[in-house]
Amino acid sequence: MEEPKTFDPATFASSMRLIRRRRKYFFATIIGYLPLMLLANKISPTIRSMAITFGIWVVILFITALYSALARCPRCGNYFHMHGMSLLYLRRCLHCHLHISEGKTG
Ligand SMILES: [Zn+2]
Repeated sequence: MEEPKTFDPATFASSMRLIRRRRKYFFATIIGYLPLMLLANKISPTIRSMAITFGIWVVILFITALYSALARCPRCGNYFHMHGMSLLYLRRCLHCHLHISEGKTG
């Protein structure tokens, strides 16, 4: 058995900030889909350029999803959004139910 780490509020808060930031990027990518496609359509309204834009968006989505999925919960040390094969963007840790706004200062 691993010894439980001594609780450090500063590390805890920065870990929570990191999880929240990665979530924000991920959601921003999803929300950004429509404006991005509209912008691409305005600049170059061809199937080809739309497909390229979509491809770039998918890559960004994949990266942000991966980053947020690999963010670890500072309380239990497991992946905050990943439990086995399921990736869920809930507001609580899937393992210890730590709330996403925990450790928020101000
Ligand atoms: Zn946890």
